[in-house]
Amino acid sequence: MTSPTLPALAALGEFGLISRLTAGAFKHKSVLTGIGDDAAVTALSTGMQLLTSTDMLIEDVHFRRVWHDPYRLGRKSLAASLSDIAAMGGISRWALLSLAIPSDLPLEFLDEFMRGFLALASEHDVALIGGDTCSSRAGLTVSVTAMGEQYPDRIVRRSGALPDDDIWVTGTLGDAALALKLLENGEAVSNELLSRLLDPPPRISAALALAETGLATAMIDVSDGLLADFGHVAEQSAVGCCINLDDIPLSPAFRNHAAQHSVIPHQMVLSGGEDYELCFTAHRSNRGKIADSMKKCGNAVTRIGIVTSFSGVTVVNRDGSTYSSQHDGFNHFT
Ligand SMILES: [Mg+2]
Repeated sequence: MTSPTLPALAALGEFGLISRLTAGAFKHKSVLTGIGDDAAVTALSTGMQLLTSTDMLIEDVHFRRVWHDPYRLGRKSLAASLSDIAAMGGISRWALLSLAIPSDLPLEFLDEFMRGFLALASEHDVALIGGDTCSSRAGLTVSVTAMGEQYPDRIVRRSGALPDDDIWVTGTLGDAALALKLLENGEAVSNELLSRLLDPPPRISAALALAETGLATAMIDVSDGLLADFGHVAEQSAVGCCINLDDIPLSPAFRNHAAQHSVIPHQMVLSGGEDYELCFTAHRSNRGKIADSMKKCGNAVTRIGIVTSFSGVTVVNRDGSTYSSQHDGFNHFT
């Protein structure tokens, strides 16, 4: 059904491959010179600053070809970087994509990957403006750099959380980690859980609403697990936090699984990665405004705890006792 890449690539040549991969690329008026010259030339909007974030996805470390179909892998590759720009309050405008391609990868896989990548790019008005391709001897490697812009006073950093601020999270947590665990165990996975792992939607409209209204004092996207990621906010803001375990929002699919197994896998909720939800802090006087603002852009949002003046990330059970966590998030080096 599919042809191996190598002979097909040899026939196409590098430039043929690049024009094939970028044929559906979205054009944006901010791109003065796009793909095809030594470097891209882009124009920032007046008064805005540049935000840049890069992410790497490596086969058998971050994804497996047997689980991740190429279309959704393309979307997810870009989503991870767009999520980082959004978590700063930035408006994503441009992306760079580099691929190290193994010789056994069917050309059709790349076509589908690009279809997914460019579909998400187009949904968010992000222009692909360059990148690189080379051969790989050890699986597919995808590197995506996203660039965005924002007015300086709207950029939301990790360092702005204040004692007594509320801690909020969008959507639900733990779904991607649960889907991954079920896949690893060879168990059945519902489509709802699977799509959270394979095609996570970056919470861009919510992030921009928070940036534009100035409601969030600090913000981060949950890519490595709530405890690890909020730990960065706490550290950079020189504060601590108290999170109420029972307040963390869980999806119906996650609750179903927990009910079937008579146990809530709290580790997945607290330390599971790749949910790409937003976690942010805000002054308690803004509760109503936050609820209204998130409702307007169609995002669920839940208050899960408060920022403390003393350091440390504490999770408490409903009865007020401290929940003790065995792990503190996804460690890239284990
Ligand atoms: Mg991030």
